[in-house]
Amino acid sequence: MNTAVQSAGVLSFEDAYEVVRERCRQIVAAGDRPSEEVLLMQAVGRVLAEPITADRDFPPFPRATRDGFAVRVEDLAGGLTLLRVVGQVRAGDSYDLPLASGEAVEIMTGAAVPVGADAVVMVEYTERKTREIDRKEREGTQRKSENRGSIADDDHILDIAGHAEPEVEEKKTEDFVEVQRAVTSGENVVPSGAEAHAGQELLPRGARLGSAQIALAAAAGKASVKVYRKPKVAILSTGDELVEVAEKPGPSQIRNSNSYSLAALVAECGGEPVQLPIAPDEESKLTELIHEGLKADMLLLSGGVSMGKFDLVEQALKSLGAKFFFTGALIQPGKPVVFGEVGSIPFFGLPGNPVSVMVTFELFARQMVEALSGAEPERLQSAKAKLRKEFKTKTGLTRFLPARLNGALDDPEVEVVPWQGSGDMLAAARATCYLVVPSDREKLAKGEMVTVVIK
Ligand code: AMP
Ligand code: MG
Repeated sequence: MNTAVQSAGVLSFEDAYEVVRERCRQIVAAGDRPSEEVLLMQAVGRVLAEPITADRDFPPFPRATRDGFAVRVEDLAGGLTLLRVVGQVRAGDSYDLPLASGEAVEIMTGAAVPVGADAVVMVEYTERKTREIDRKEREGTQRKSENRGSIADDDHILDIAGHAEPEVEEKKTEDFVEVQRAVTSGENVVPSGAEAHAGQELLPRGARLGSAQIALAAAAGKASVKVYRKPKVAILSTGDELVEVAEKPGPSQIRNSNSYSLAALVAECGGEPVQLPIAPDEESKLTELIHEGLKADMLLLSGGVSMGKFDLVEQALKSLGAKFFFTGALIQPGKPVVFGEVGSIPFFGLPGNPVSVMVTFELFARQMVEALSGAEPERLQSAKAKLRKEFKTKTGLTRFLPARLNGALDDPEVEVVPWQGSGDMLAAARATCYLVVPSDREKLAKGEMVTVVIK
């Protein structure tokens, strides 16, 4: 090991995590990243380079949140239970007259509550009543049933002002609704602008566009959005034993799968992976490829960071002027993980075992990709679950073991996936999370609530 490597040191998991986090914060704070305008559907998973503001009130009108009847609470508070139904308003429609005393409008979820109404009674708490009324109408005369006369206090129905001769007896009906429950002002109505007023910021710069954010942008009329360019993340796998995926490995060779797990992880968190050719365990060629990788915004190396004679990655990085923030973390798998920078380009040297590579990416490198894509890096997503089987280990390392979450929604359980050590890709593929074993624990008991990191 060289001296820079020795002085950087091996940190506890918590310290190593904070070191990366702090660097990420500085990168986000420095800002000024290139951006581009893209169509909304091309922005899924991307990070906003400018805020999105509301082009109108959200909601733009008082919105009914239930099917039912728009009413004036005052009427009902005054003891009235029977209201005249003067119209119907479906989502997309409007009822343009102000609601008068004694009136109700049938309303559907999502429709605009008429002016004058201040609550919506759920249809479940109402009963529709149709009343026959006698009318005298002039024969052959068309009359609109405007029905805007008032009704009496109770069940008694007034005639509509009808007149004219000669008269024909005709049966007509009028619609009423009986409200069977007390109603409070504002019930089942979201006032216009309650979520956001026109001009207000809906999403800040730096927000990652998941499905909910995409919906918000769509609702605000953003057919295209300005997002940060994806950071290029170079991926360099090292090792004389490696062959490319399409090649047939010799008896003691293995395929380079780490470049693929890393490329998938980088793409998943918003980076653009750039896979470099396999680097041999030979310093000059390795240095050349690292130099190539440093043209990207970030470099991920796999393998060559342990203590073996042919683990030359740190040496090669040092020859390029690397600064090391740490050269190991007290974790398992992934203890030899390295973090540093050459100039302003951050790099991670990840131990080559396939599970180590994935775990150390999750623990450390993910937040850096996020920071370089302009987003405030997320904390590790953790949860508590009940351990299914006792687990015994040695103290001294914080362990992140491939595990599966199971159990009921309100009673999550976790089980370690049986594995053959950090080379076991099958275990990694079966895992949905990592069980966290604190460094001071020798045993986790069956039934104990333990922490898991969600993959
Ligand atoms: P290293 O960290 O270089 O000592 O690598 C540890 C072990 O991880 C090697 O012996 C390989 O079995 C495995 N390994 C290293 N690099 C890769 C890779 N790119 N793809 C798959 N397995 C790898
Ligand atoms: Mg190696």
